[in-house]
Amino acid sequence: MHKILNYINGEYCEPVSKEWIDNFNPSEGVVYGKIANSSSEDIEKAYQAAKKAFPSWSNTTIEERSRILLKIADLIDQNLNKLAEAEALDNGKPLSLAKSVDIPRASANFRFFGNAITQFSSDAHESVGLNTMNFTLRQPIGVVGCISPWNLPLYLFTWKVAPAIAAGNCVVAKPSEVTPMTAYLLGEILTESGLPKGVLNIVHGLGPSAGQAIVEHPHIKAISFTGGTKTGEHLARTAAPMFKKLSLELGGKNPNIIFADCDYDKMLAVTVRSSFANQGQICLCGSRIFVEKSIYEQFKKDFVAKVKQLKVGNPFDDVNLGAVVSEAHRDKIESYIQIAKDEGGKVLTGGNRVSVKGFEKGYYLEPTVIEVFDANCRVNQEEIFGPVVTVMPFETEEEVLDYANGVKYGLSATLWTSNLDKTMRMSKQIEAGIVWVNTWLNRDLRTPFGGVKESGVGREGGFEALRFFTEAKNVCIKYDS
Ligand code: NAD
Repeated sequence: MHKILNYINGEYCEPVSKEWIDNFNPSEGVVYGKIANSSSEDIEKAYQAAKKAFPSWSNTTIEERSRILLKIADLIDQNLNKLAEAEALDNGKPLSLAKSVDIPRASANFRFFGNAITQFSSDAHESVGLNTMNFTLRQPIGVVGCISPWNLPLYLFTWKVAPAIAAGNCVVAKPSEVTPMTAYLLGEILTESGLPKGVLNIVHGLGPSAGQAIVEHPHIKAISFTGGTKTGEHLARTAAPMFKKLSLELGGKNPNIIFADCDYDKMLAVTVRSSFANQGQICLCGSRIFVEKSIYEQFKKDFVAKVKQLKVGNPFDDVNLGAVVSEAHRDKIESYIQIAKDEGGKVLTGGNRVSVKGFEKGYYLEPTVIEVFDANCRVNQEEIFGPVVTVMPFETEEEVLDYANGVKYGLSATLWTSNLDKTMRMSKQIEAGIVWVNTWLNRDLRTPFGGVKESGVGREGGFEALRFFTEAKNVCIKYDS
């Protein structure tokens, strides 16, 4: 049975306490390894390593930092199969998805920020008449914390740590205790890349102990967090008295709005994906589907027929959906299916567990479509984060805008229409950080990423991330003319 060790100061090490937590394989429903159960002592060790590395790393040339990030990207690519297999095993997601999306995106994150940092410059303003020259220094913050969730483990972990180190910071990072494997394996790659010791320290453990210790650490000056809204709120409260810089990427309950004038076949194919990719465990999944009344009955028929064809099974087979991430998460998803029924919702397809031959203890669920009759019912308001979507008809733009915006979240929205005026009207009024029109999950890494309302605070992506991981300092020089 493997042990997931911390990676501190360029070396793998056991947790100070020598305590371990279970590492589950969700597709088989068994414990298959142990994870370091780190405490504030391990966070302190990681902090000290990062602090020591900071003076040198922050003075390393941009070209050299960039070179190392690009090298890490290449090494991730070279280890694609190994990392994808590890991700599929640890998370339950189909291997094909890990191979085509998760791991390529992890290398893309390092490659993107390795390049972006060479283009990141700041402004200078000559104040004519006042005889002053102003320029802005963009300086690394120091030691920063990065905390990531389990749904896209290496993808989201690297989305944070890559810009943090590109900008010259040193990092104490904690991946989710539910899926620590690929962040653990990244340690080997960091060593091979020549990244100086202590620049990126990876500590494993539980949120309320190891995660909390990062947030509470008085000298870890900024926290980039992706996870649930409740956890984000708790983090913000903890960090507020220390005035830490925070970036919070939180939950979503994203509308998928389908107008009758859309390209129907394209919409149908993408809607199946935006509903159930990664077992519906992507913060950007379109979990509330609103369909214009004139095509509603047709849509239900066609969508349900397509969903019924999806294959659920062992992530290492040719399947569309693997296992959901844990037993507790499966129970939560099932409880929402029950709530939907209790509230008068109609299950159009799915709703049950799937028994996969040879993997009977794994956490498999059918992709589930529920027709709801009230936009305010709980399954339409609360984040389920599993293979469950709701469908509901609408008649007017005003009505569907009310539905779309009538939740506490505001992460993303998808619109399906061929009408440009409608596209513009809707895009401007939808409360979300991202609006996709006639597409879904299309990401240009230069664009800002984040949510409004309870989906988060701050933006990641492109120069936004490099701005977050630096402090802007105005230098004003007076000269005599
Ligand atoms: P979570 O909030 O339970 O955990 C996220 C991370 O925070 C984990 O590493 C966890 O150990 C840590 N954590 C937990 N308690 C903590 C504490 N008190 N102090 C510090 N760290 C703590 O979320 P999850 O269940 O891992 O992930 C699912 C959630 O993440 C969903 O709500 C989903 O929408 C959200 N998510 C958001 C985005 C986005 O970009 N907005 C992306 C992916 C996932």
